[in-house]
Amino acid sequence: MTRVAVVTGGTRGIGEAVSIALRDIGFSVAASFVGDVERARSFTERTGIDSFQWNVADYDDCHTAVDQITATLGPVDVLINNAGITRDSSVLKMSREDWSDVVDTNLTGGFNMVKAVLPAMRERGWGRIVNIGSINGQAGQFGQVNYSATKAAIHGFTKALAQEGARFGVTVNTVAPGYINTDMVAAVPPEQLAKIVAKVPVGRLGEAHEIARVVAFLCAEESSFITGSTISINGGQHMY
Ligand code: NDP
Repeated sequence: MTRVAVVTGGTRGIGEAVSIALRDIGFSVAASFVGDVERARSFTERTGIDSFQWNVADYDDCHTAVDQITATLGPVDVLINNAGITRDSSVLKMSREDWSDVVDTNLTGGFNMVKAVLPAMRERGWGRIVNIGSINGQAGQFGQVNYSATKAAIHGFTKALAQEGARFGVTVNTVAPGYINTDMVAAVPPEQLAKIVAKVPVGRLGEAHEIARVVAFLCAEESSFITGSTISINGGQHMY
């Protein structure tokens, strides 16, 4: 049986690497994106992985997309809540929109997706949900009260959902990356990034495939006893 995986924000960065890693271990993958149509098109051409456009912050959009994926690929077995954004500034300069956009995408987006996929997982007695957290949710980060709050909340979300999913064969875990070489980190000013890298014991940024292999491991059949866990992948920058 081919398992079906949905990777939100799966057409670039960490999500792209996760989509490819899941494809390589035999899953049918649906990768989502929100606005970058060109990037998604070239991703699908390169990888053969279907891409679907929807906004994870929109509850109805998530349900419509999951219905479409179910009709195209089959019922969803694996959900990777990866889509995430930053809107950085110190709290006194942070607008209400910068707060709510980040909460709606990074946190409520995960809730919206779980509501769309969990009933079918429970019915079939099998599921894997991996939520992408962040070192900045574990340690906090100046200029990111919105982002750090959403990523810290992912831990509670994961642990509560893991308890609800366990008896239905649904595992739920968090993977918390450190600083990874993607567009999101490319937006950090170079002098600030150099200071961050100086604090990483292994002395470099992580690569997206280093996150993806752990996500794929958590999605395997054999990982059924791992639930409610956080795996940090950060080059030793934050030992939690
Ligand atoms: P990128 O900015 O490279 O990619 C983000 C992806 O999410 C894109 O595919 C984007 O779509 C999609 N996306 C954004 N908003 C929405 C939305 N509302 N609905 C659907 N899709 C959306 O991010 P990264 O690969 O760097 O990060 C991936 C995840 O990992 C995020 O949750 C991030 O917080 C987390 N993370 C990243 C770290 C890093 O150092 N890079 C460190 C720790 C955690 P589109 O292409 O259309 O814009």
